[in-house]
Amino acid sequence: MNMQELAARCPKHPDQEALGICARCGGFFCGLDHSRVGDKEYCEACAKLPEVDYLEAFRLRYWGKRDGWAWIVGVSGLLYAVSGLPLLTTGALELRASASLFGLACLAVGALGVCFWLGLARARLGLLAMPLIVTATNALLVGPAAAPIALLTLLPAVAVYFDPRNRLFFKVPVERAKLQKLWHRCENNVLARIGLQVSLVSLLLLPLAPVGLVLSAVAWRRVDPKAVPPVGRRGQAIAGTVIGALGTLVA
Ligand SMILES: [Zn+2]
Ligand SMILES: [Zn+2]
Repeated sequence: MNMQELAARCPKHPDQEALGICARCGGFFCGLDHSRVGDKEYCEACAKLPEVDYLEAFRLRYWGKRDGWAWIVGVSGLLYAVSGLPLLTTGALELRASASLFGLACLAVGALGVCFWLGLARARLGLLAMPLIVTATNALLVGPAAAPIALLTLLPAVAVYFDPRNRLFFKVPVERAKLQKLWHRCENNVLARIGLQVSLVSLLLLPLAPVGLVLSAVAWRRVDPKAVPPVGRRGQAIAGTVIGALGTLVA
């Protein structure tokens, strides 16, 4: 028997030599199906488990899932289309040309908005085209002075284009550091943030103080930086508890 036959094989890819053992299930993995999470090596199946890689689990949860921006852009697109349609056929004769031009622009913006809502890959660039269409139409119909104001709508469009949550909807890869920030924003002990906000509002609206106190205290109890995924926002939970407690004493 030679060494080739003795070497362990990957159970999923029998033609591949096993490179190592998964840190979680103890199974062999090969070069085709191993993943590194933190400082440990895992097989493909284990690496995707939420208790091994919570960021990957988070990514998968939102992969292809519509975000708030998709709805805002989609619904505004629909409104543009609905308001643009009648302009194509109505209007006094002398206004017909500009009304039609405006109607066409509305329809174009509307179509782009609906494509964005549908998650068509090209519609991400289409979103950047929407402000340009509006700007060009404004410049033609109202005059060049109207262009700079319309161009301002390009700013939110660019912000949405780079928004990591919206990228997940369009299945565009998001780097791990950005994914980590997004996870923090959406899922890291959000109760602590809400509790602190309620406590801060209670400075003006005293009866809310006990609510802020309870929410922040519950969030504080949950804090566990060593858990997978970690539960953070200790500072916010403590601040919310202290402010809420002071408010409750005064009330
Ligand atoms: Zn495994
Ligand atoms: Zn393999």
